[in-house]
Amino acid sequence: MTIKKNKSSASSFFNPKQITKCTLFVTHECNLRCQYCYIEKKNAVMSLDVAQKVVDFVFQKNPKDWKLEIGFFGGEPLLEFERIKLIVELIKNHSAYSSSKVSISINSNGTIFNKEISDFMLSNDIVFCVSCDGPQKMQDVTRKYKNGQGSSATVEKNIQEALLYFPFLPVNAVYSDQTLQYLPQTVDYLVNLGVKNIYLNPDISAKWTQSNAEQFPEIYGVLAETYIQFYLQGKPKFISLIDNKMSIILRGGYGPFDRCRMGSGELAFGTTGNVYPCERLVGFDDGKTNCMGNVVDGTIKPASCKIVPSAATNTECSQCGFSEYCMNWCGCTNYHSTGSYDMVSAFMCAHERAMINVAYQTIQRMNGYGVDLSHHVQGTPLVNVVTNFGNR
Ligand code: SF4
Ligand code: SF4
Repeated sequence: MTIKKNKSSASSFFNPKQITKCTLFVTHECNLRCQYCYIEKKNAVMSLDVAQKVVDFVFQKNPKDWKLEIGFFGGEPLLEFERIKLIVELIKNHSAYSSSKVSISINSNGTIFNKEISDFMLSNDIVFCVSCDGPQKMQDVTRKYKNGQGSSATVEKNIQEALLYFPFLPVNAVYSDQTLQYLPQTVDYLVNLGVKNIYLNPDISAKWTQSNAEQFPEIYGVLAETYIQFYLQGKPKFISLIDNKMSIILRGGYGPFDRCRMGSGELAFGTTGNVYPCERLVGFDDGKTNCMGNVVDGTIKPASCKIVPSAATNTECSQCGFSEYCMNWCGCTNYHSTGSYDMVSAFMCAHERAMINVAYQTIQRMNGYGVDLSHHVQGTPLVNVVTNFGNR
C-alpha cells in the first residue's frame, strides 16, 4: 500500500520533566476476579498524605502550558469513592491546577454506580470509563464477582443508567483467544445498549495461537463493515481498533505524542507512592518489579530509568513496511507477552498487520462513499467531543 510516512521519532522526545499523564492506584482491592487481571488484590489504599505527594510531584513535572491527564485506577477505584472525592479536592486546590489544563478520569469495572457518584463526576468534569466484555455469555465468564457470580446484570444496568448522564461513556471490552470470534457480537451488544464510544483491547497475556492470528483479518474485517454501515446511516460509533489505526494512517504514522511515553511522560503510582512506568506494570506493587522508586521518600529517578519504550528489536521490524503504523513500541504489551519491553510477540505482529490492512481498506471504502475523513486526522468527531467537553 502507498501511504505517507511520519518521520518523527519518539526516542528524541523523552524528557522526565514532561509528565502529561499519571495514574493513581487508590486501592488494590476489587470486588471482581476477572480472568485476565494482572493486579494483585490486597487491602492497600492510598492515604491522603501519599496522594498529596503524588499530586505535588506530578504538577511539578508537568510543563506549565501542557495538558495533564490524571486517572483513578485500581483494583476498583469506586470502592474508595470517599477517598477519591478528597483526592480530587487536593488536585483542584493545587496552585498549578486549572480546569483547562487538567482532565480527570475514573476507570471502573461498572459494578458500582449511583446518583451521588454521577453528580460528583458531572460537577467535577470527570471522565467516567467502564469495562464490559460484552453480552452475558462473555461478561459472566470473564468478569465474575469474588464469590464466582457473574457481573453482567449489574454492569448492564449501570451502563444504561450511566449513559443517561454520560452519553459518550467510553466502554472498554477485553477479548482473548477464547472470545475473539464473538468480537462483532460484543460491538452489537454495546451499541444496542446505546454505547457510542467502544474500546476493544486484546488480552495481551492470553494464549494466542497461529489459528487466532489467521482469524484476525476476517474478524476485524467484520468490525470494519459494521463501522462503515454506522457511518453511512449517519450514526457513527467510535470503535478504537478501527478509528485509531485509521487516524494513524491518515497522519502518516505514529508521531511522538501518539506513542506512549511510559516511564518519562507517563507514570503510575501505587498506593504507597511506588512509581511505575505504566499502570499495566504495577502488578503486585512490590516496589521491585518494574518499579522506578518511591515518590514519598524521594527515591524516584526517572532520568536514569531504563524502562522507556523504543522501537522493537525484532529483526523483522527494521525491514517491515508497516513499522510506522505498528504499535511495536508498546513496552507494556511487549513485556506482558514476551517478558521484554522491546520484543514484539508473534500475536502482536499478526494483530497489527491485520489491523493496518483493515484500517487502510476502510479508508479507501469510506473515500469511495464520499465520507469526509478530515476529522480522523486529529481523531474522530466523537473523540473530539469527548476531548473537548468531557464525556457529557
Ligand atoms: S475489575 Fe479490574 S482490578 Fe478488578 S479483577 Fe477485574 S481487571 Fe482486575
Ligand atoms: S507488523 Fe510485525 S514486523 Fe512489522 S513492524 Fe509491526 S511487529 Fe514489526
